[in-house]
Amino acid sequence: MTATYDFRSVEQKWQQRWEASRLYATPEEARNKYYVLEMLPYPSGDLHVGHAKNYTLGDVVARMMRMLGYSVLHPMGWDAFGLPAENAAIARGADPNVWTRENIANMERQVRLIGTSYDWSRELATCDPEYYRWNQWLFLRLYEHGLAYKREAPVNWCPHDQTVLANEQVIDGRCWRCETPVERRNLSQWFLKITAYADRLLADLEKLQGWPERTRAMQRNWIGRSDGAQVWFGIDNSTERIAVFTTRADTLFGATYLAVAPEHPVVPKIVTKRQSAAVQQFTESLSSKSELERTSLMEKTGVFTGAFAVNPLSHERIPIWVTNYVLAEYGTGAVMGVPAHDERDFEFARKHGLPVAQVIAVPGSEPPQPLAQAFVDDGRLIASGDFTGMSSARARNAIADRLQALGAGEAQVNFRLRDWLVSRQRYWGTPIPILYCAACGEVPVPDDQLPVVLPPDVPITGEGSPLARDAAFMNAACPKCGGPAKRESDTMDTFFESSWYYLRYLDPHDSERPWDPQHARTWMPVDQYIGGAEHAVLHLLYSRFFYKFFHDRGWVSGPDEPFARLFHQGFVLSNGEKMSKSRGNVVGIDQTAETNGVDAMRLFLMYVTPPEDTADWTEEGISGRVRFINRVWRACEPFADAAGKTDLRSLPQVDSADEKALLRAVHVAVKSAIDETRGHRFHYNTTIAKLDEYVNALTALEQSNPQSPAVLYAVHALPVIIAPFAPHIAEELWQRMGHQTSVHLERYLEPDEGALALDEITLVVQVNGKIRARLQTAPGIGQDEAVRLALEQPGVRAQIDGKAIRKEIFVPDKLLNLVV
Ligand SMILES: [Zn+2]
Ligand SMILES: [Zn+2]
Repeated sequence: MTATYDFRSVEQKWQQRWEASRLYATPEEARNKYYVLEMLPYPSGDLHVGHAKNYTLGDVVARMMRMLGYSVLHPMGWDAFGLPAENAAIARGADPNVWTRENIANMERQVRLIGTSYDWSRELATCDPEYYRWNQWLFLRLYEHGLAYKREAPVNWCPHDQTVLANEQVIDGRCWRCETPVERRNLSQWFLKITAYADRLLADLEKLQGWPERTRAMQRNWIGRSDGAQVWFGIDNSTERIAVFTTRADTLFGATYLAVAPEHPVVPKIVTKRQSAAVQQFTESLSSKSELERTSLMEKTGVFTGAFAVNPLSHERIPIWVTNYVLAEYGTGAVMGVPAHDERDFEFARKHGLPVAQVIAVPGSEPPQPLAQAFVDDGRLIASGDFTGMSSARARNAIADRLQALGAGEAQVNFRLRDWLVSRQRYWGTPIPILYCAACGEVPVPDDQLPVVLPPDVPITGEGSPLARDAAFMNAACPKCGGPAKRESDTMDTFFESSWYYLRYLDPHDSERPWDPQHARTWMPVDQYIGGAEHAVLHLLYSRFFYKFFHDRGWVSGPDEPFARLFHQGFVLSNGEKMSKSRGNVVGIDQTAETNGVDAMRLFLMYVTPPEDTADWTEEGISGRVRFINRVWRACEPFADAAGKTDLRSLPQVDSADEKALLRAVHVAVKSAIDETRGHRFHYNTTIAKLDEYVNALTALEQSNPQSPAVLYAVHALPVIIAPFAPHIAEELWQRMGHQTSVHLERYLEPDEGALALDEITLVVQVNGKIRARLQTAPGIGQDEAVRLALEQPGVRAQIDGKAIRKEIFVPDKLLNLVV
């Protein structure tokens, strides 16, 4: 009698043994390397099965690739700086460091609990000084190359909390914490010049054929290249000029006003006395509005400055307005208003009584009729001086050339992408390694004084910058002159850490440099990156920017893209609903490991849907996988001794159809697992469905022919084949078969063409006794399936021709005769 399978003790036992033997250490020699990586998690506390899906998928891929003979690098770490730790400090006085370490300890325990095969010797946490030291080092290299710089920029400012708010922290124009109306303020902030890489980041998306097209499209759109012209408008009675960018230089003669952002530096210089009160009032009314409100939600409105601009080609005087829809941070902070050929400008002109000057002919409307709405298409130019009669396309080039000749503009490419604001007035982040000296100005911290360590025991109240109030931290000696200096009190955006962590895994304990370029040559790029689609732009774009910078320095070699392939996993619901604490439907890791076992959980998560799709966790679903695990146990354990002596490298000779069918089932599963891995589809749901058929066929043959060599072969092969999916039961069975070494060090089976071919049978299809088709199909298909397949054959359909089938004569795997 078979003992029942005790998943709790088996799973625990093997996890301890694997850990003790360092079974999953990265091989020293990386021949045929494969770097598989899941996005660095934030240690927020507890894991649920939705997180487990991500790590299970990465783990199955890593285990498959190891068993296929690759040297696999599969590391894990923690994106440990950030706001939640600081909020815990504000809310209940927790020490962010302690809070974070406790969460890491718990999550690490849970990630181990799900049977993952990480190389834990490479674990890192970005809040460790030995990690963020290299953040600072990299920041200084960016600084040296002019890619890190400080400038004034408008920010959301809560006057009550004395702090900058992210756009997401401004709710209906108010602070999310204290509901004080938010102000826009100019503050000096650090930026990274990602725009210097805009064209390469765009062009190289073409190299990323292993990325989802949707994600590449999002990056393309985010970078937002537009080809156009910069045009300089002079100002009447002034030496000032205003630059605008336009993609429609062909409509330049149709500009009837100039719209500028209220924050544009030219405004105070040109506004007339008469208009100054109105302009000031208008500007103040906008100071609390977010970008989103101004550009998308509010009605387009504005106030006349009293000043006039001069069109550089037509020399016409046009009024200059401050408006709510032009933002100082976008482009030049000014745009030309062409009501005849732009819908927004048309609306604005209607509202404010500005003229509409048509300069592109509407086909079939000659002579031009007054426009009832903007005509936004290309066409032929009218009323445009020398350019009249040209096509829009030709005129765009000709007008850009003319502007350049006049010193009044030029052709220009613009990007929607803006420089990356990395300053945070926060405590729990990497201190920016810059000093300010009264005599020397801005001075970088020398490399040998890194890391600038985050001081412990800083009171965190949520008001103002915590570091700025810490005198012991702030006061330092200037590295240049030795005089008194102040430290930068801003910390870095946590996306800085996650833009290069995949390289630190190559040398997590190197104290001389962030990583060894030799190791980067060996291991990079990441062959398979796995993570959520919500990271389509920021993290995935910043990482590409950093990696190109590293490549230009020669610190990495090979392709200048960090992630060769990218996979976005889908969510996990709980009985059709989003998991949330308030609904009380969160399926926790600890709970399911205890109730169902880790192997069953892993199988379920891979089986329920293709991994990119949303999965639904149900009691019925997980129970099905628990039963599968027990079936595997009952099918294998009684045969373990004998099976362990069979040779897995050669297929046994068998005679009966049942035995052949079993061997085929084995190799269909093998082929599926390998194809899904090598094809990067990871649709292991189909593989696991094949495993179901395999175990069914095995159980059936054990009853009818327990001595069959096919039974012993199939029993012996099963732990190898399921090892990546259900690593614990696989290891237990393998050991019971008499093996001294781990099943996870075995080579995966090769699909046996002979075994797969055994299975094709020819089913002859007759209509009224005459052969009309021959079907190549799997053996053992039932009568209904055979009829369905037969009716798909044109030769059969033509004979039946709508007549009723009176009788079906079916000889399994041989013949189907339809009588009509
Ligand atoms: Zn506030
Ligand atoms: Zn100095």
